[in-house]
Amino acid sequence: MQGVGFRPFVYQLARKCNLAGWVRNTGDGVLIEAEGNEDRLQQFLESVQDEAPSLAAITDVRAETISPFGSEGFHIQASISNAGTRPTVPPDVNTCSECLADVLAPDNRRYMYPFTNCTNCGPRFTIIQCIPYDRPNTTMRDFRMCPDCRAEYEDPSDRRFHAQPNACRVCGPRLSLDGRIDARDQETLHKAAELLSEGKILAIKGLGGFHLACDARNTQSVRTLRERKGRAGKPFAVMCADLVEARRICFVDEASESLLTSPEAPVVLMPAKPDTDVSPLVAPGNRCLGVMLPYTPLHHLLLAETPKTLVMTSGNFSEEPIAYRNEEALDRLGHFGDHILLHDRPIHMACDDSVARVFEGQPMVVRRARGYVPRPIPLGMNVPEILACGGDLKNTFCLTKGNLAMLSQHMGDLENAATLRHYVHVLRHLQDFFDARPKIIAHDMHPDYFSTKQALSMDAQAKIPVQHHHAHIVSCMVEHQLSAPVIGVAFDGTGCGTDGCIWGGEFLIADLASFRRAAHLSYLPMPGGEMAIRKPGRMALSYLLQALGPRGEDVGVELMPSLSSAEAYAVRTQIDRGLNTPLTSSMGRLFDAVSALLGICTESTYEGQAAMELEAAAFGPADEVFDYTLSKADDSSIEISVQPMIAAIAELKSRATKEWISGVFHATVADIVTEVCALLRQEHGLNQVVLSGGVFQNILLLQLVLKRLRDQGFEAFHHCQVPCNDGGLSLGQAVVAARRSAI
Ligand code: ZN
Ligand code: ZN
Ligand code: FE
Repeated sequence: MQGVGFRPFVYQLARKCNLAGWVRNTGDGVLIEAEGNEDRLQQFLESVQDEAPSLAAITDVRAETISPFGSEGFHIQASISNAGTRPTVPPDVNTCSECLADVLAPDNRRYMYPFTNCTNCGPRFTIIQCIPYDRPNTTMRDFRMCPDCRAEYEDPSDRRFHAQPNACRVCGPRLSLDGRIDARDQETLHKAAELLSEGKILAIKGLGGFHLACDARNTQSVRTLRERKGRAGKPFAVMCADLVEARRICFVDEASESLLTSPEAPVVLMPAKPDTDVSPLVAPGNRCLGVMLPYTPLHHLLLAETPKTLVMTSGNFSEEPIAYRNEEALDRLGHFGDHILLHDRPIHMACDDSVARVFEGQPMVVRRARGYVPRPIPLGMNVPEILACGGDLKNTFCLTKGNLAMLSQHMGDLENAATLRHYVHVLRHLQDFFDARPKIIAHDMHPDYFSTKQALSMDAQAKIPVQHHHAHIVSCMVEHQLSAPVIGVAFDGTGCGTDGCIWGGEFLIADLASFRRAAHLSYLPMPGGEMAIRKPGRMALSYLLQALGPRGEDVGVELMPSLSSAEAYAVRTQIDRGLNTPLTSSMGRLFDAVSALLGICTESTYEGQAAMELEAAAFGPADEVFDYTLSKADDSSIEISVQPMIAAIAELKSRATKEWISGVFHATVADIVTEVCALLRQEHGLNQVVLSGGVFQNILLLQLVLKRLRDQGFEAFHHCQVPCNDGGLSLGQAVVAARRSAI
C-alpha cells in the first residue's frame, strides 16, 4: 500500500545494515534489491518484517539470491506505474505521536499548525483525486511547498519523505473562522474554543467532512443541536480531549484504549459511567457512549482549549450525506451552526467517522468508513470483477478484483435523494481507484430498493439478485473464510424473502452460492407496513392479537398507555381486513414489540431505537426463559412461535419489572437460537453456526447466544471487520454472485 512510509523505512534500514541497492513500488508490492555482507542481508531480511511501520500490512515476503552488481549506495526509485492490479490507495490515518509532539513544541516550526502530517499519518483517501498517489493528484496540488517542506519531502531520511500532504504554516492550508483568516492559527483556535465554551454550536471542517460540535455538558446546546439537525433521539458521538477525559466519562478497558488510539481512530462504543456531567441528551436511553479521540492536529489543538468533551456529529440534516464542500457548508450548515470553522484544503471524498466497539477483547466494526476504507478485504479466493450494490439502509457497495474486495465507506440511507446522488459519485470514483469495470452486478432481491433500481439501470453482462439474509450470512462467512455449508442465523429488521414476505428471523442452511430456509419465526401481520416500524406499539398489538385473540386489543390498550383505543381499534380492523398488513418473520420487529409492551419505546425516531433501549433496560437472570414452541411447517422448515412468551409477558407485566422481563426475553431468544441450531445439527450434520444481521448489534444477545452455542459444542462465528447490519450486505452479495456466475 502506498503512503505508509514503507520505502523510507527500507531505505533507512538498508543504510543501517550497510547495504547497497534500491527499493521501489510496483503494482504487485515492493521490490528491493540489496547487496552486501551475508549476515547483514539476513539481519535486513528479518528486520524488514519485524520492524515494518505499523501501517504496512505485510502479507508475504519472498527472497531470492542474485549475483552482486557491485552497486554503491542505497536509493529509492520512482514507482513503476503498472499499478492497477491492486488497490494502492491508503485510508486516512490518525495523527502520529511524533507529529503531535511537533505541534506541541514551541520551538518547532510547526508549533500549533493544525495541518501537520507525515508519511505515517494524515489525510489520504479523502484528498486523493486519482491514482497514483502523488501530490498533483491530491487536493494539495494548489499548495506549493516552501523550501523547508520541499527539503523534507525530498530527503529519504526524513519522516516527511514523499509525504504527499506535507505542509507548514508558510505554504499549507489555513484556518478561518466565519470567513476571517487570522495570520495566527492560535488566535482562530482560541476564538473557536471560546465560542464552544459559551455554548455555541460550531460547524467544523475535519478530515472527511464537517462536524457539528458543541459542549457535551451543555444540555441547552445539545437540545438546540438536536432540533436544528432534525434528530430527536439517535445518540451523538463525542470527542474527548484525551484518554484521561475518556476514562472520566466511560469505562475504558485496555482493548478499547488501543482502538481509540489506533491509526483508524474510530468512534468507540463504551459503557458510560453513571452520574457524569455529560448531558443526558447526548445518548438518551443508552448505556453506552460513542467516544473518539482527536485524530487531526486541528482537533488536538481545539480540544486543548475547549470543554474536554464535545459532541461531534456529522454535519448534515438528519440522514443526508455528510457535508464536505466549503460552499455547501456555508450554504447549508449556516442554519445549523452558529459559527463555521473552515480550512482551505478541499476534501475530495467525503467519509464519515467509523464506529467500532470491543467484543471479547477484539475490535468489532459497526460502521466502516474513515480509517478503514478503502483498505481491501481478502477473500481467500479469486473472483471475477463484480459490483455489488448493497441494500438501502446503511448502504455500502462492494467492488471485487482478484482475491480482494473493496467495500465503500458507509453511505447512509439511499431513500434520501442526496445520498443516492452521493452514491453514484462515490461509485464512479472508486471504480477508477480500483480500475474496475465489472461485468457482473449483484443486487438485493427487493425490486423497490433504490440500490436495486440503480443496479438495473447500469450496463452489465449479468445481473444477479441475491436474497438479503443469504447475503448477510455470506458476508460473515467471507470474514472467516468459510466455504462449506453452515447453519446461518440471520436476525434483522427487514429483508425481502423468496416468498415475497418480509423475512428477518431466519435460520438458513447456506453455502456461498445457495441456501435453504431451514427455520424462521412464524409470520405475523405488520399493521400499516412501514408505519409499524415507526410505531412499535402496533407490532406489540399485532403480537397480542395473535397470542390472545380479540382480547389482545383491550390488553394492549391497558398495557401501553401511549396507544389510544382509537388506534388500537384501527390496527385490529386493519389486521382483520388484511389492509396494508404485509406478513413478517422479522426478529427486529419482535424486539420492537417487546420494547413497546414493556412501555420502553412505543415510537421509534431512528432505526433500531426500540431494540437498543430494550437491550439497555435488560437486567436479570440469563438462565430463566419464557416458553415458545417449535413446529414443522409444510415445507419441512421449522416454525418458531413466540405466542406463549407474548402471553406470559402480558400477564407478568404488572408483577415483574421491565428490566427483569427484558433480561428473560434476551435469554429466551438465545435459547431459541441454540435449540433450533441443535435440531438442524441433528438433521444436517453441521456444527458451524454463523451469526449475522443487524439484531446482533445487540451485545447482550450476542453474548448469550455465543455462550449457549459454545456450551453445546458449536463452533460459532460473528462479525468483526464488517458490520453485521446492512453495511456488510454488499460483501456477501459480491461473493454469492461470484459463486453463482462460476457455476
Ligand atoms: Zn505524523
Ligand atoms: Zn511549508
Ligand atoms: Fe438486513
